[in-house]
Amino acid sequence: MQIANTTGLPECLFEAVKIVSSRYDKGECDYSLTELIAPPRPRALKRFYSDRIVVEAEDLLYSVIGSSVHALLEALNERPGYKPEVRWFGEIGGKVISGQADVYDERNHIIKDYKFTSSKTYQDGVKDEWVAQLNGLNYLSPTQSNKLVSIGVFRDYSKLKPVPAKGWGEYEVEPWPIEKTEEFLLERIRVHEAAAEDIPECTEEERWSTPDQWAVMKKGNVRASKLADSEEEAADYISKRKDKKQLYVEKRHGTCMRCQHYCEAASVCSQWQNDPRNPNNQEQ
Ligand code: SF4
Repeated sequence: MQIANTTGLPECLFEAVKIVSSRYDKGECDYSLTELIAPPRPRALKRFYSDRIVVEAEDLLYSVIGSSVHALLEALNERPGYKPEVRWFGEIGGKVISGQADVYDERNHIIKDYKFTSSKTYQDGVKDEWVAQLNGLNYLSPTQSNKLVSIGVFRDYSKLKPVPAKGWGEYEVEPWPIEKTEEFLLERIRVHEAAAEDIPECTEEERWSTPDQWAVMKKGNVRASKLADSEEEAADYISKRKDKKQLYVEKRHGTCMRCQHYCEAASVCSQWQNDPRNPNNQEQ
């Protein structure tokens, strides 16, 4: 994988992003938990086209900055009872999988996972994939934990702003019964193994997509009078308005957040390269 800097990240940041990104090591295993939980298409594409993949340094920046939280937690090595950055291995369905816990509180059997993210990410609770990650770690850990915790360190926190009120949040995650986790992991292995034979498309959900919208605009206004989910809905809205002669419709493309900013396989993915929501396919 090559890392490009077409957006002109300052040189030192660019070099640091390259160094930190190359440090990731999942150990001797078939799958890391992160890979297993992610959609199968990116992993399959990365395996087939590894030399052709180009990732923009700017898109890696926040995950690299997020890893500084992990570097901070490594200081816990000096405190008995805590194991930071501990990687566990296990075999399931004939495959070796590994997963790294950010912190394992040995005395209380608590697994903690830290995310450096926007506070909005937690507004509907802990994301499904993070719940799966914690439960996967629990499956791999030598002692089953009775408490799993996702901790958000909020990058949008400011003492000068009312929201979020704190710079972090702690969210407890219900441990799954071990049979449920086993079933989940076996199904993820099946999905990924099948993708090695026949690469599937990512679903809209896997792509973190939002649909197209039609904005009803009034001449001279910057904000839309209405955001409709279809062209027909927008036309229907206009037809009922007295000021219809001043209204017009603007199509707003939906987004695929994962494809656009978070998928390392995006540069070799035809599904994304041909998508009208890809900014490169839109008229400027
Ligand atoms: S770019 Fe999007 S569609 Fe393609 S593999 Fe990545 S997430 Fe899936």
